[in-house]
Amino acid sequence: MLGGTASASGIFDEPLNEFKSVMATRAIEDFYDSDTKRGFYGGGRIDGRWGFMGPIGYALGGLPPDAPLWGAGYKNFVKENFNRTMTCQSYMTSLPLETNNITLDPDVKDAWGLPAMRVTYKEHPDGLKVKQYFLERSLEILEAAGAKKKWGNPVRETTSSGHLMGTCRMGNDPKTSVVDKFNRAHDVPNLFIVDGSSFVTSGRNHPTCTIEALAFRAADDIVKSAKNGSLFQRSAVKSA
Ligand SMILES: Cc1cc2nc3c(=O)[nH]c(=O)nc-3n(C[C@H](O)[C@H](O)[C@H](O)COP(=O)(O)OP(=O)(O)OC[C@H]3O[C@@H](n4cnc5c(N)ncnc54)[C@H](O)[C@@H]3O)c2cc1C
Repeated sequence: MLGGTASASGIFDEPLNEFKSVMATRAIEDFYDSDTKRGFYGGGRIDGRWGFMGPIGYALGGLPPDAPLWGAGYKNFVKENFNRTMTCQSYMTSLPLETNNITLDPDVKDAWGLPAMRVTYKEHPDGLKVKQYFLERSLEILEAAGAKKKWGNPVRETTSSGHLMGTCRMGNDPKTSVVDKFNRAHDVPNLFIVDGSSFVTSGRNHPTCTIEALAFRAADDIVKSAKNGSLFQRSAVKSA
């Protein structure tokens, strides 16, 4: 899973001055939990972020679709609006699909002549629904905050991400999962896979704190197993 994102931006009359001091993200979690009334599973959070992550990022990709893209008009637009633009950036659930996978490419080789990684990814339909929902909520927030102009990035399938999760799914059943609840491989008792690969959904937020929490739990279990002599015993037997 790659995790879902949606973003909408607005331009305000007043300077926002959010470049001052360190960047402090304000996030709301009003739409974090699942709600069956929405008609989809996922949820997430909305960050209020300034000027599209800095002046260069704003100039290269943060302008509204109808802004001038070259010449004096472009320069003036960036100068006038960088400090008046706010972006609502959302992070949300993406669900796994059994057909998504990472394999070794049969033909393509990397720079060392080894088989290249081949990623097959399609977005779960739930992910597109949750993106549309967060885009609409973000536009409402910008409207309520008084943006004189607002726009959203069109909802589309995620094709790249820094948030990579799944492929060694966690679970109790060795038939449908790779690691147990302590990140221990079902098939290889003394192998612990402690990273984002054990996620069963992408969650509803940035993943690293959850990865870290799971790592602490796994570490406790490694210590415990080493002390009681069960480090080389099958995990399914141990957790049963
Ligand atoms: C630009 C960017 C911004 C991000 N911002 C945030 C954020 O604000 N908040 C957040 O929660 N998350 C953020 N993330 C996501 C976060 O970095 C990842 O989800 C997290 O680091 C994943 O942890 P991991 O242990 O699964 O994998 P990694 O951190 O990628 O660790 C994998 C490790 O395995 C090593 N490795 C790979 N192959 C081999 C090999 N063959 N032999 C030995 N070692 C190997 C790699 O060198 C690496 O150290 C961001 C990611 C990116 C790219």
